Amino acid sequence: MAKQEDIFKNVISHAKEYGYIFPSSEIYDGLSAVYDYGQNGAELKKNIREYWWKAMVQMHENIVGIDAAIFMHPTTWKASGHVDAFNDPLIDNKDSKKRYRADVLIEDYAEKLNIKAQKEIEKAQKRFGEAFNEEEFVTTNERVVGYLSKREEILKRMGHSLETENLADVKALIEELEIADPDTGSKNWTEVRQFNLMFGTKLGAEAAHAMDLYLRPETAQGIFVNFLNVQKTGRMKIPFGIAQTGKAFRNEIVARQFIFRMREFEQMEMQFFVRPGDEMKWYEYWKETRLKWHMSLGLGKENYRFHDHDKLAHYANAAADIEFNFPFGFKELEGIHSRTDFDLKAHEEHSGKKLQFFDTELNQNYVPYVVETSVGLDRMFLAVFASSLKEETLEDGSERTVLSLPAVLAPTKAAVLPLVKKDGLPEVAREIIEDLKWDFNVAYDEKDAVGRRYRRQDALGTPFCITVDHQTLEDQTVTIRHRDSMKQDRVAISELRGIINEEVSVRKWLMKM
Ligand code: ATP
Repeated sequence: MAKQEDIFKNVISHAKEYGYIFPSSEIYDGLSAVYDYGQNGAELKKNIREYWWKAMVQMHENIVGIDAAIFMHPTTWKASGHVDAFNDPLIDNKDSKKRYRADVLIEDYAEKLNIKAQKEIEKAQKRFGEAFNEEEFVTTNERVVGYLSKREEILKRMGHSLETENLADVKALIEELEIADPDTGSKNWTEVRQFNLMFGTKLGAEAAHAMDLYLRPETAQGIFVNFLNVQKTGRMKIPFGIAQTGKAFRNEIVARQFIFRMREFEQMEMQFFVRPGDEMKWYEYWKETRLKWHMSLGLGKENYRFHDHDKLAHYANAAADIEFNFPFGFKELEGIHSRTDFDLKAHEEHSGKKLQFFDTELNQNYVPYVVETSVGLDRMFLAVFASSLKEETLEDGSERTVLSLPAVLAPTKAAVLPLVKKDGLPEVAREIIEDLKWDFNVAYDEKDAVGRRYRRQDALGTPFCITVDHQTLEDQTVTIRHRDSMKQDRVAISELRGIINEEVSVRKWLMKM
């Protein structure tokens, strides 16, 4: 089995064992591509959401947040284009009976070419050492040029075929590239068909009068239909943004990558309304700003890259993904889209209501253009969780599992451990908790030897362990142990709050942006 697969399996089992993520309704054998967050997962998820909300809403005077309903008037989805165009091209393998997204099969093939090119570059880098000129090598080395231009050509052709609804050509491309079923190697494919991803449901008790509804496939439309409400009541002036976080639902064709692709998931979206003509400036601004937000978490610069879209959605005039190096390779984490005035104009047409802004500087009414930032909360969770999970060999040769979550996001900030369960130590530990819990999520742990407790908290991702021992009774000091360095300091109980705050405060982390 490939090492990557092992790592990913380990992520999934660690998430379950330590109360982060469980398969949904597991006692009934689970539900495909639906997951529940456990006691620690719910905290981590909440902390990610708050980190986003702080950066996007509270740190911007001109961005406000809303919480729109999941159910929306069905015409919303006609106007947004989701009824007619929210489709994925699917293809079935006739032998294995497995279903795939045709575009994903082709993208994976293209990514393999990219990996081959990167390997050549790395090899040459080793060979030439300091004298290596990467730019020159990439443009002149025959193999690298070959791999990269083939990749480019494939993605362009696929983009064009999907845009023009030429599904026969998508199938032809799969056949020409001899792409096989990743599970079985079979190349016996059906035709490519379009499949609408929205879940339908009904509102109302009586079948005859029930109204057909959809579960929202994105949170963005809740923002567009409230554009005027917020603009007027908040007296917002362009440029301004409306943000929200919440559940979205998509009947994904293929959902085999844990919480990367779920049928019920959560998005964190912000729609930024700008003057027509200014959208490219703001598009670039939000691309950079969002990348900086991701980088502030310290998961490694090398784990992010931009991917500019060749194939644009029906509403966009520019779009890019921030991709993250997940355990299964670089994949989309966030999308930044210049959505033009498509959505507001479409809602004007379908509702008959004007959705415009009077710009006093220009003395003019217009439908604003929109730049959107849209990140999946569950994908953020996976990015943070998977890249934090490490197996370390220590100096004494022993091994430890550590979940080195960014301290600002860790579910529990500190565990307080009495060295022994007697002599009044548990009581002092409880007193420390009583004080710290006003500011931080803290835990108490007295079971097992202290070394084992440290290991348990390392695996849970707790940044600090505070140990109460007999000396504490004499001088009111404790040992504070740092998860990542395992360094231990003797400090006064009265200093604890300051020390923890210094490491976990949102201020400290967001300042890195
Ligand atoms: P993909 O190409 O991976 O299906 P998308 O381009 O359809 O994603 P968007 O519509 O741009 O995704 O949605 C914005 C964000 O929502 C994505 O960047 C991703 O983080 C998240 N997201 C989308 N679909 C899912 C899903 N099925 N499960 C979890 N997160 C998702």
